[in-house]
Amino acid sequence: MNRICENIEQIRREIGNVQLVVVSKFRSNEELQQVYACGHRHFAENRVQEILRKRDELPGDIQWHIIGHLQTNKVKQVIPFIHLIHSVDSVKLLEKINEEAKKNDKIQEVLLQIHIAQEEHKYGFTPDELHNLMSNDQLSSYSNISCKGLMGMATFTDEQDVVRNEFKGLKSLYDRYAEDHGWNVLSMGMSGDYEIAVEEGSTMLRIGSLIFA
Ligand SMILES: *Cc1c(COP(=O)(O)O)cnc(C)c1O
Repeated sequence: MNRICENIEQIRREIGNVQLVVVSKFRSNEELQQVYACGHRHFAENRVQEILRKRDELPGDIQWHIIGHLQTNKVKQVIPFIHLIHSVDSVKLLEKINEEAKKNDKIQEVLLQIHIAQEEHKYGFTPDELHNLMSNDQLSSYSNISCKGLMGMATFTDEQDVVRNEFKGLKSLYDRYAEDHGWNVLSMGMSGDYEIAVEEGSTMLRIGSLIFA
């Protein structure tokens, strides 16, 4: 078994039923082929150009996820094949995704990205913006979008309490709406904080560096 498979197996043993999405950004096709050879099919990228290129060169049964900020003018290129968009961070983007999904006769699955970190530069709806969006039932007006839950990134810090509190906050936002809206995906946790994320109720991890280390 190659090193990449060993890393994946070890993470899987630790996380139980939580779904693992392998973050393949900046990695070569050879590395992705190794992940594929271990039987893994869920890959995530944060740039549209990179996803399009890799998709052309790799097996067709890979399930691609987008986890980075998605510009509206790139939506058209990804809708025909993308499995899950984690990083929906504006109403404008929801509208564009709905429009393109309609053209493709597809119900696009998405997550709403929530800004939970202290860092200003991170994207996402604030909790207040989420409450607004949910209170007027706007989401259900998008006929070709199926929202599955929330995604968030904790502050990049060694202070575990900060990270844990941010994850707790995201989980409680999620719990507030999950049952009524049939949500079942809470995408939180990366290489540096996935153990805390699992303890705090994550259902989906996005892990890159740890797998290729
Ligand atoms: C890069 C990235 C990850 C994975 O980060 P690692 O530390 O390499 O595990 C997860 N989520 C998002 C949004 C990313 O951009």
